Amino acid sequence: MLKAGLSVLLAVAAPAVARERTDLLIRHATIVDVASGKTIADQAVAVGGDTISAVGPDSSISRRYTAGRSIDAGGKFVMPGLWDMHVHFGGGPELIEENKNLLPLYVAYGITTVRDCAADISPSVLEWRSAVAEGRLLGPRIFTSGPKLEGYKPIWKGTLEVGTPAEVNAALDRLQAMRVDFVKITDNTLKPDIFLYAVREAERRGMKTSAHTPYALTIVQAADAGLSSIEHVDYLIKAGSPREAQIGATYGAGKLTYGQASDAFVDTFDKAYAAGVYRELAKRHIAVTPTLNMGRILAYLDREDHSKDSALAYIGPGLRKTYDWRIERAAKATPEQVAARHKEYELSKQVMPMLVAAGIPILAGTDAGYLNSFNYPGEGLHEELERYVESGLTPRQALVSATITGPAFLGHGNRYGSIATGKTADIVILDANPLIDIKATRAIDGVILHGKWLDRAALDALLAQAKARAN
Ligand SMILES: [Zn+2]
Repeated sequence: MLKAGLSVLLAVAAPAVARERTDLLIRHATIVDVASGKTIADQAVAVGGDTISAVGPDSSISRRYTAGRSIDAGGKFVMPGLWDMHVHFGGGPELIEENKNLLPLYVAYGITTVRDCAADISPSVLEWRSAVAEGRLLGPRIFTSGPKLEGYKPIWKGTLEVGTPAEVNAALDRLQAMRVDFVKITDNTLKPDIFLYAVREAERRGMKTSAHTPYALTIVQAADAGLSSIEHVDYLIKAGSPREAQIGATYGAGKLTYGQASDAFVDTFDKAYAAGVYRELAKRHIAVTPTLNMGRILAYLDREDHSKDSALAYIGPGLRKTYDWRIERAAKATPEQVAARHKEYELSKQVMPMLVAAGIPILAGTDAGYLNSFNYPGEGLHEELERYVESGLTPRQALVSATITGPAFLGHGNRYGSIATGKTADIVILDANPLIDIKATRAIDGVILHGKWLDRAALDALLAQAKARAN
């Protein structure tokens, strides 16, 4: 008799006892599934530590978990944190602090991961990478190339100068000792055969490569050597010229300047030919970081006044000073050169949907940091995504480039790219649906950074702090 009564009591009490504890519960959220382009209403997301431990209908998840903190995301849109796949931290040792101050700024703009594509303060960037990963520094997760490979005496500072295969081997040994995440190669003075050797050798060692390809090589040659990503969309204009090899050879022979060769690629671009080349590139699994917004800013420096840009307030005086380089170069341009820049940008826009149609993964990246005038850390990525949509990509395709392709490129697709069980809790909560209007990525209500909740007030405090430090 007593035994039967007890078992009834246990049956009633059981569900409450079974509730699991978790750190954070996001409730009544509409989840943006970027891969499918669908939204899923009234979901709850349980976060434990830096990982999403469960996602599902609010009614069932909220019955399963009790949380230290619960966020009501009713009417909000929840998507993965944004990745900026092309930034720079640089400008010399005296700008280390100004660069470090950019880290919380990225977070305030919903950017939870950045890929640093080389500059001249690599030891600091490597230190920040560890500090962020260990929770000692508030910032986006950092992937970095460390110092880039170049030829002898390039215009860039802080490079590893290589001119022989032995020097390439030694440079890659050094990069592997630094545990860099990929290898950046640029072509200011690098010899084409050494470029190809470096790409092949890096691939043999299992390292990804991102590059500015020497003009004397075709983009397909670079892809055949195993290049992992092309930085900047203008190289895809080059690839789309049926005269790419001849113009490259003439440039290689010293009979054309860099600018003349660049204009010749634009003038001889052929859409049907380019579509075929892009399909060939897609087969070789090469990705493209277009940095389209940078192209637009530089192309229209002649007619746009950036002196009142609100985001300038977040940029320190030293970094702001580095902007002069591009401005002075643009100011020296002849009317013909200005017209050529406009033409190149308009062509870049046409290239974007062609790349997507061919199946080439697009990595959203800004080129923000130092030197690249008015291309603001944080703000710049939202502008980049808007440029993609202006060029003909759908908002979903733009979001894919900023949440899915980056982690896949770096081999971390299993931990990032969706709001799903087992993924890293890098989450942005928006006031509007970014699948309908890409500008909604700016309407940030809160960010979960490696499991840490930052509400709008906390993000505003980061912005205020960035502004105070910049002045
Ligand atoms: Zn760059």
